Amino acid sequence: MADLLEARLRAMGFSVQRDEAGERIGGETGNLIAKRKGNRGSAPLLLCAHMDRVSPGTGIKPQIKDGVITSDGTTILGADDAAGLAAILEGVQRAIEQGMDMPDLEVVFTIAEEGGLNGSKNLDFSLLSAREAYIIDSSTPVGSIVNQAPAQTKVTYRVIGKAAHGGVEPEKGINALVVAAHALTRMKLGRIDAETTANLGIARGGAATNIVMETFEMQGDVRSLVTEKMEAQVRHMTEIFERTAAEFGARVEADVQFAYGPVNLRPDDRVIQRASAAIRRAGLTPVLKATGGGSDANVFNTRGIPACNLGTGYRGAHSLQESLEVAELERIADVVFALIAEYASA
Ligand SMILES: [Zn+2]
Repeated sequence: MADLLEARLRAMGFSVQRDEAGERIGGETGNLIAKRKGNRGSAPLLLCAHMDRVSPGTGIKPQIKDGVITSDGTTILGADDAAGLAAILEGVQRAIEQGMDMPDLEVVFTIAEEGGLNGSKNLDFSLLSAREAYIIDSSTPVGSIVNQAPAQTKVTYRVIGKAAHGGVEPEKGINALVVAAHALTRMKLGRIDAETTANLGIARGGAATNIVMETFEMQGDVRSLVTEKMEAQVRHMTEIFERTAAEFGARVEADVQFAYGPVNLRPDDRVIQRASAAIRRAGLTPVLKATGGGSDANVFNTRGIPACNLGTGYRGAHSLQESLEVAELERIADVVFALIAEYASA
C-alpha cells in the first residue's frame, strides 16, 4: 500500500519520505510524509488519511451495484480509509490537471490507525510545517465536519486480596471480587456529565471454586472533551479502589495510560471555517458533528495542530456490509479539490 501510494504521489510531483514509526511499532513501513511546493507561498494545506484497515481485509473484491461499492461479502470493503486515500489523490490530481494556482501541500498517509492511532502517535511531527490539518476519515456523510471527539485514557485496576482454601480456612482469605464490588458501588461510572464518560468493560479473576479469589482485574476507558475532567474522573476511580482495598486489607495496582487528547474545536476556529468554506465551494452544506470515537485528528490536536475529521460517506465500517456510494466518493474528492482551491486563494 505504501509503495503504491508513494509512486502515485511522486508521479504528481511530491517528494516523499517515510518516518521511523514503522520500526518503533514493529511494522513494515513508516508513515508516508509527502510534500509538494505550490506557487502561493502561504501556509501549507495538510491532508491526512490512514493506509491500514481492519481484518478480514485482504483479497478484497470490490463490486459496484446500483451506484454502491461493496465487497463480495467475505471481507470488509476497506473504504475506511481507502476512500480518504483515493479522494486525496483524485483531488490533487484534478487541481494539477486544471493548471490552477496551488498551495504548498503536505500529505500524510498514516500506518496503524486502527486499534490505537499508533501511526500518528509515532508520527515525526518535526517533518511538518502545516498549522492545521484535515483528516479524511469520518464515517459520516460528505459535508460533515467532526469538530468534537473526546480524549481517552485507558485504565486497568488489579485488586489483590489473599488466597486461602475456600472450604478449609476461608476466614484467612481476602476475596478480591468482594473488594472490587464494594468499590464499584461507591464509584461514579457510565455518563459522568455531558462531556465525560467512564466504562469498565473487561473483568477477570479467580483460579478455582475452592480458592478465595486472590486477584480480580478490570479494564476500561475514561473519555472527555475536557482533559482535566478526564483526569479528575481517573483520580476518582483510583482513589475509591485504593481506599476500599485498604479497608479490606487488600491492595490495588492501577495502570493508567493516557491514549490521546480531545478534538474540541469551535465553529469560529480557522480550521473549521476553512473546512466549511471548502464544503460550500464544493456545493454542499457543512454540518458540524460530535463523535465518541477517536481518529488521527485527536493526535494532531494533541500535538498542537488543530485538525478536524471530514465525512467520507462510508457506512458499516469494520463490518462485511461496509459500503460507499460512488457519488459520495466523488463528493469527497470534490471537497479535497475545494480545500486546495481555498488554500490557493487565501
Ligand atoms: Zn478509519
